[in-house]
Amino acid sequence: MLERLSASLTPEVGTVLDAALSGREISTADAVTLLKTDGPDLHALLQAADLARYEDVGDDITYVVCRNINFTNVCYVGCSFCGFARHADEADAYDRTDEEMLAKCADAVARGATEVCIQGGIHPQRDHNHYHHILKTIKAVYPDLHIHAFSPEEMDHGHKKSGMPLTEYLQWLVDAGLGTMPGTAAEILDDDVRNVLSPNKLKTDRWVEIVRAAHSIGLRSTSTLMYGHIESPQHIANHLDLLRGIQKDTGGFTEFVPLGFIHEKNTLYNFMGARAGATTNEDLRMVAVSRLFLRPWITNIQVSWVKMGIKLGQRALCSGANDFGGTLMEESISRESGSDHGENTPAEDFRRYVREIDRTPVERSTVYKVLRRFKDPSDDPPSLEPQTRVDIAGPERFRDGSRVREVNLPTPVLTNH
Ligand code: SF4
Repeated sequence: MLERLSASLTPEVGTVLDAALSGREISTADAVTLLKTDGPDLHALLQAADLARYEDVGDDITYVVCRNINFTNVCYVGCSFCGFARHADEADAYDRTDEEMLAKCADAVARGATEVCIQGGIHPQRDHNHYHHILKTIKAVYPDLHIHAFSPEEMDHGHKKSGMPLTEYLQWLVDAGLGTMPGTAAEILDDDVRNVLSPNKLKTDRWVEIVRAAHSIGLRSTSTLMYGHIESPQHIANHLDLLRGIQKDTGGFTEFVPLGFIHEKNTLYNFMGARAGATTNEDLRMVAVSRLFLRPWITNIQVSWVKMGIKLGQRALCSGANDFGGTLMEESISRESGSDHGENTPAEDFRRYVREIDRTPVERSTVYKVLRRFKDPSDDPPSLEPQTRVDIAGPERFRDGSRVREVNLPTPVLTNH
């Protein structure tokens, strides 16, 4: 019976998996082959990626305690996949004050955050000085808080307004307190695709220029890709190849984060014929291929629980990924495009989810320094989450034969979520 299982593997797929597990670099053609696997080939791919993950980074699953802060949702770039942006005259447009930003940082610190992730729309009235001011304002009060901020799109906007040379501009932000840069605004790094998704957004060459310039001054970044819309396996493979090439030169990427397209509430799906996001198999294939293609250059593969949900995230962490991402505490960008996986995953919940799949939860810093390894659950710290009351659903009265009996409900319990 076991022989039948291994005999069912397509030889071409077996050859690529063997190469990847032997530590040989796989090609974009190999990645395309793997991105098309199904059935027994797909199962073998997921298993191979999980084995590679174990060899690359062991059994730890990391997470970071962080808070998202979107400082404005005003944006006129007009990306077709975005449900977050507003024009300035819309009722729910906002532009956070210093006090609001600091209150969110205070909340983050009280809940154990080591990082704030700051991104926003491209507000035409906000320039490089505003970005600089945000950093200085937060660092003046919270000097130890790591600031992970400003996508390459925001860097492009600020840089053009500043008139400075690019590396000088980036260094100016670093000197004001910038710790790392999100590698977002990447979507698919192919201008044919970008011209459909977001014709007004920075092009591939500019994204690469900004990321390389950041890495050249020691400003590290994440790397991302958005899949499940109009892209082909070849686009994904080329994008991964571009990232791998940058990493070989700079070593500046901290991780790779595949981001599934959230389709419900945006133009790209509703009016432009994009697919309705990735299937479960696509989600898992994407993670597994990322692990095998990017090793040994990028060894941290993150799952986005906001996009995938927790249970599929757990499957992805058994299919090549090793990082659960951040607690977030607040999340608007995916939620406003239709994601319903929540805004906050407390650290204690991450630890439980990790132990459910028999792995070791580890709190990390933004740049993957191990802060605490939680081997023994009895050593876990108490929750730092605000305690809220919830109603307990259930009958207050029920029939017992011909009599109706009242039930004294217990006092509502305190819960964290
Ligand atoms: S994705 Fe970013 S740049 Fe594009 S419209 Fe939304 S907020 Fe603006």
